[in-house]
Amino acid sequence: MSRIVHVNGQWLPEEDAKISVFDRGFLFADAIYEVTGVIGGKLIDYEGHIARLKRSLEALGMHAPVDEAALLDLHREIVARNDLKTGLIYLQISRGAEDRDFLFSGTLSPSVVLFTQARNILENPRWKTGIKVITVPEGRWVSRQIKTVQLLYSSLAKMEAVKSGADDAFFVEDGFITEATSSNAHMVTKEGVLVTRALSNALLHGITRGSVLDLARAAGLSVEERSFTPEEAKAASEVFITSAGTFVMPVVSIDGVPVGDGQPGDVSARLRQIYIEDQLARAI
Ligand code: PMP
Repeated sequence: MSRIVHVNGQWLPEEDAKISVFDRGFLFADAIYEVTGVIGGKLIDYEGHIARLKRSLEALGMHAPVDEAALLDLHREIVARNDLKTGLIYLQISRGAEDRDFLFSGTLSPSVVLFTQARNILENPRWKTGIKVITVPEGRWVSRQIKTVQLLYSSLAKMEAVKSGADDAFFVEDGFITEATSSNAHMVTKEGVLVTRALSNALLHGITRGSVLDLARAAGLSVEERSFTPEEAKAASEVFITSAGTFVMPVVSIDGVPVGDGQPGDVSARLRQIYIEDQLARAI
C-alpha cells in the first residue's frame, strides 16, 4: 500500500513525491534529519529529537522552514494519514535547491520531507539473541580519494573563505595542506620545483592533477610528490590549483600573505596553456 508522504507543504502518494535533482541534500549532503519512533500512534522522545534538530539547523546556519508547533502537527498528521501504529517517522530538511555551486545563496528555502516506516519496533526478535559487531577504523570521512557527494564540509569551508574575502580554502591536516575545497593544491618552489602532495586517502586523485604533472615532467620541470605546509606554500614562488573546471588556476595569496609577487606566475600560466593545448588536441 502506498504511503502518504510530505514534501514541501504537500501531502502526496509516495510515487508522486519528488525532490529536485538540484537539491543540496542530493548534491552536497547539505541536509539534516531526525528519526522518531512511534508506538501506538504516539511520538517517542519527540522533544529530544526536535531539540537536536534545532541544534543541527543552527550548526549549519539553516533557518527553520516551519516552526515547532507546525513541525509537531506534521508529525501527528503523517501518523494519522498513514494510520501508523508502530514504526518510524523520517524527517529530512535540506538547505534547498538551486543551481549546483559549492557556495549557496542566502535566499534558499529549505526542502522538508517526512515519511513513515511501519515497523514493529516494540517486538524485536534480536533482543533475545543479541547482535554481533566488528570493529572498523573511524573513518567519517577520511576516504577522500572516493569522489562522493559528501561535500557539506567543503561547501561550508568555501562559504567561510568567501565570507573572509577570499575565494577558496586549503584544508590543512597535521600541519600539511591536503587540497582545496574542490581542487588539488600545488606549489612551485623558489628553486623551480613543482611540489604536490602524493596520492593517498587524504585527497581526491584529481584527473587534472595527474595530466598536468605528466605534462610538467614532459616539459622538463622537476616534480616532487610530497606533503607541504601552508608556510612553505606562502614562501613559494607560485601556488596553483587544478580541477576539471578551472584547469590550472593561480593562487595569489594564502591567509592574506601574497604568494611570490602577489600576481599569477609564469609556470602556472604555461602549464595551463600546455594542458589546454594537449587536451584540445586529444578531446574526443
Ligand atoms: N579535489 C577535490 C576535493 C575536488 O572536489 C576536485 C574536483 N572535483 C579535485 C580535487 C580535482 O579533481 P579533477 O581534476 O578530477 O576535477
